[in-house]
Amino acid sequence: LLLAADPARRLGQLKVNLEKAMVNARMIYEILDMPERQRDRHDAVPLEVSGGAVRFEDVDFSYADGTKVLHGLSFEAPAHRTTAIVGPSGAGKTTIISLLQRFYDIEAGTITIDGQDIAGVTLASLRGQMAFVSQQPYLFEGTIRENIRYGRPEATDDEIEEAARQANAHDFIMEQSAGYDTPVGENGVTLSGGQRQRLSIARAIVRNAPILLLDEATSALDNESEKLVQQALEEVMAGRTTIVIAHRLSTIVSADRIIVMDKGEVVETGTHAELASRKGGLYARLNLLGGGADQPGGHAAETEKER
Ligand code: ADP
Ligand code: MG
Repeated sequence: LLLAADPARRLGQLKVNLEKAMVNARMIYEILDMPERQRDRHDAVPLEVSGGAVRFEDVDFSYADGTKVLHGLSFEAPAHRTTAIVGPSGAGKTTIISLLQRFYDIEAGTITIDGQDIAGVTLASLRGQMAFVSQQPYLFEGTIRENIRYGRPEATDDEIEEAARQANAHDFIMEQSAGYDTPVGENGVTLSGGQRQRLSIARAIVRNAPILLLDEATSALDNESEKLVQQALEEVMAGRTTIVIAHRLSTIVSADRIIVMDKGEVVETGTHAELASRKGGLYARLNLLGGGADQPGGHAAETEKER
């Protein structure tokens, strides 16, 4: 149960069957989107997104094992802006992203998108408005083109190429033996971490959803790759409502708003400048401590050193 909600893991479990069945792209995205125990309410209506403003209000949540993870959590992620979530490991950052996709139901409070309670909308319409770029991008058995198309099965080849260009992936794709038709995955070519990330960003670009959920990778890339990934991310974030679990100083500093979480609660919000100047605050302390990868200080410190 603990692992079951993680879409990448669920896909891993299903992968053997999928390979055999050679299912089409639409089906695979439906599996990615497959609700755990979640069903549409009988009176569910489609979510209508204008800007994609996200609001958590007094949200309480526990996992099935009874561990209370969020306590009266409230925050807003304004439309068309980037909201970064930072905090120590175990604070509940990933849980927020799961709840927004309604992999679980909350115990109390409300989560709304453009004022609509997500509990009352259809799961297909909810998840159809979101693109998710995970820490460890998953490449399916198939060609590069198919992997990008998973974002939106009806995308044309031109749209796929345009997305790949925006994601800084087109050039390395063209260097592969069969270009866009080169197989990747276990039996295909091996791509670097940065290349995989850019394919996953191209997939999100082609999905063209107003809300972008991003769990920033913690693994270090070489400087060149880092720059290409960063540019690609800026491209996909432009004009979208982005919620990013941020690990890199550059992401945190450029966010319109930073939510600092600790032990299932929001302890501070503000811009980098505001939070950094609040001396005894958790954000300032995290920066000073330079701790683990999930703490802004820790990774930030590393990033600074690399420059
Ligand atoms: P973060 O992303 O900030 O590191 P998470 O949201 O992953 O934090 O986890 C918050 C808390 O919930 C942690 O104590 C974690 O152990 C627990 N947790 C996370 N996922 C599950 C799960 N599927 N089942 C039970 N507990 C979980
Ligand atoms: Mg996490």
